[in-house]
Amino acid sequence: MTENQYDPIDEVSIDDQFKQIIQNITQKFKFGAENEKKTKTTLREWIAKTWNSIKKQFWEILRYFWNFIENQYWEILHYFLNGGAVGVFYNSLHWIIRIGGTAKANIVTVLDATRLNSLENPTWFARVDAPHGNVPFHHINVNPSYTGHPDPHIQISPFSAEIAEHLGVGLEVVNKISPYLLTFKIAVDVGVIGYNVYKDWKRGSTRNTVKAVTTILSSTAGGFGGIFPGSAIGSLIFPGIGTLVGGFIGGVCGAIGAGIVSDLVFEKFSDDFKYDIDEVTCKKCDKEFESRRYELGEQEMCEECRPQDEPEEKSIIENVIGFVVEKFTEVKNVVVNVVANAVNWFKSWF
Ligand SMILES: [Zn+2]
Repeated sequence: MTENQYDPIDEVSIDDQFKQIIQNITQKFKFGAENEKKTKTTLREWIAKTWNSIKKQFWEILRYFWNFIENQYWEILHYFLNGGAVGVFYNSLHWIIRIGGTAKANIVTVLDATRLNSLENPTWFARVDAPHGNVPFHHINVNPSYTGHPDPHIQISPFSAEIAEHLGVGLEVVNKISPYLLTFKIAVDVGVIGYNVYKDWKRGSTRNTVKAVTTILSSTAGGFGGIFPGSAIGSLIFPGIGTLVGGFIGGVCGAIGAGIVSDLVFEKFSDDFKYDIDEVTCKKCDKEFESRRYELGEQEMCEECRPQDEPEEKSIIENVIGFVVEKFTEVKNVVVNVVANAVNWFKSWF
């Protein structure tokens, strides 16, 4: 067996197979000489065909993205709120922004509310300074007690120092309003859960509520989880102001990431375990079908036998326009309501 493995017959057959494959490819893509004429005459056709397929694929890709944005629009905004509110609230508990400082050259100082000095005052963590004494450029000071190294006096441009000051002013305001933002987040959570309880109550299911609670909890937890790496990265880039900005961005990213992942995992898990999905025999045609009770409520007839009241598939342009009009109307209604209430409230004072 091992002595003479060379077999000329096998070699020939492999060669034949190879020729066959080449022939197939040539025929498929019309490379052969016998097809040359045909290819020439159908070049126009070929271009039209290719163009059509590109157009079709383009719209398909666009439609895919659009469906994603359309379906997850409010969820992603909600995750954003969850992470943002949590990040901002954490920042407000941990860091105090002070525009200026104890010396004239201090532009903006970040103090650590969790570390008090002997006089019960928060210790400074990082500070942006204008040129002074023996440091002839704008720089960031970092408290050596955090790093274990001497104050690095990180050089920055005067422009960066100015940006830091403006950001500091903004972050100070955000710190102040963060409790209200957190309250607003909780109110939205309660509203979303309430809406899903209502949907489930109408449909005789529980899946919508459980999903809402799951995604809210995981996106909030993801927000908390994102704060620390975000703050760390921000501290590397720009100690102090960057720490707060990083905490916020980390919170938002963590919340959106965890929200989307928990949403997908929940759907997969629930589908696999047939959560609120019934096996129903159609009343009309006796066919077995799957009824997603949490979406449509109890169904007695299969999709084919159910009276069709869904509109035909609309084009992507119609979808986009419809979506924009719908969202605009929703926002407009909210604004009109708020204004009307505010006017009534003012009127009640006179
Ligand atoms: Zn049926």
